[in-house]
Amino acid sequence: NLSEKLDKAFHILKGHGKITEVNVAETLKEVRRALLDADVNFKIAKDFTTKVKDKAIGQNVLTTLQPGQLLVKLVKDELTELMGGEATGINLSGHPAVILMSGLQGSGKTTFSGKLANYLKTKKGKKPLLVACDIYRPAAINQLHVVGNQIGVDVYSEPENKNAVQIALNAIQHAKSNGFNVVIVDTAGRLAIDEEMMNEIANVHAAIKPQETLFVVDSMTGQDAVNTAKAFNDRLNFDGVILTKLDGDTRGGAAISIKSVVDKPIKFIGTGEKMEAIDVFYPSRMAERILGMGDVISLVERAQEQYNEEEARKIQKKIAKNEFGFDDFLAQIQQIKKMGNMKDLVGMIPGAGKALKDVEIEDDAFKHVEAIIHSMTPKERSKPSILDMKRKTRIAKGSGRKIEEVNQLLKQFDQMSKMMKMMQGPGGKNMMKMMGG
Ligand code: GDP
Ligand code: MG
Repeated sequence: NLSEKLDKAFHILKGHGKITEVNVAETLKEVRRALLDADVNFKIAKDFTTKVKDKAIGQNVLTTLQPGQLLVKLVKDELTELMGGEATGINLSGHPAVILMSGLQGSGKTTFSGKLANYLKTKKGKKPLLVACDIYRPAAINQLHVVGNQIGVDVYSEPENKNAVQIALNAIQHAKSNGFNVVIVDTAGRLAIDEEMMNEIANVHAAIKPQETLFVVDSMTGQDAVNTAKAFNDRLNFDGVILTKLDGDTRGGAAISIKSVVDKPIKFIGTGEKMEAIDVFYPSRMAERILGMGDVISLVERAQEQYNEEEARKIQKKIAKNEFGFDDFLAQIQQIKKMGNMKDLVGMIPGAGKALKDVEIEDDAFKHVEAIIHSMTPKERSKPSILDMKRKTRIAKGSGRKIEEVNQLLKQFDQMSKMMKMMQGPGGKNMMKMMGG
């Protein structure tokens, strides 16, 4: 699915650690391929990656500390924008508010009618009425009654009447005189678009003038969903889209394309067969879902780690040649501090940023050590063995630390150098641990 494809796309970052212009382009090419595979229209996918690339260049992504994370954020923000930006509610202003369902057979209209009625009843305190306007199949009327029973919502039907417009108008009259404040009209669908069906729903639409006309679409139908959406929108100028069957291994492509092609908001999603499986559509959550944010972030983190391993190898060489000094030590501390920008990292984990907002994360653990090293001369830093009592006293004074602290740092440094030389093993992580201890 799309998430896996994008994971693969970001995998490219892994081997490089540092992001170059070349692998930004490569990554975005993979992103585009992933979107195409998920049935996103070619032009939309192309425009999308061009936009992200322009923004990446505009924001100088390559010169920032964590280019990978910034690129991920850009892709996510742009996807969110592509799917409509903000969540959009439904209009319930009429007396009663009339909602008309449209869409192909099997898209999930009847199921969603039930879900929406249940949602409005339990979450919004409404008194909805379900109306059976699928007059061609007796089983369809039955199905809506079963759904209504399940959720305790009344269903209006006229099994003998073959005029959908009349049934819908009668139902609204019935709602007015019986205190229902929302009327949800479930209609017939065909397996493919045909004129008869389009005419019928257009006639119902013209007669009842709904506050909300919703287009229901099976999100597993991919590129076809876009064509169907366009055909229905041309006739009905609908107000919003319902994406059903977003449970399981479903492509996210439809969500991205439909919004771009018909420019109508996606309002709800269906995520299962049960009546509770309905959710308001949040573009940013959908973008996170498509990108599988957690995985992407861990990939970027690993890329960062790899970079440090390379550094560590350089340092090992210095150790072997007895060239490791306090300047290298200082560089290591900077590196740890750079990586250990915990607040930033935590903030990118969906949900965790807010929870940890008030937790104090110490970032000046090395302050004293740095002060002492800064008070050394370059010669002292590269050749710590020359540090006698006189020099140590001067350093302690200069850094405002006690002479014992200077001695302690020298002792630690000495032990560390010896151990590192002994180990000659994989450097980075172990070395950092030692320094931390
Ligand atoms: P209609 O012909 O447009 O009225 O479609 P239905 O409401 O009868 O749904 C067709 C099939 O899709 C039924 O078997 C539903 O149970 C199933 N269905 C509808 N919505 C969802 C959903 O969000 N997830 C899953 N997994 N199945 C759904
Ligand atoms: Mg139906």
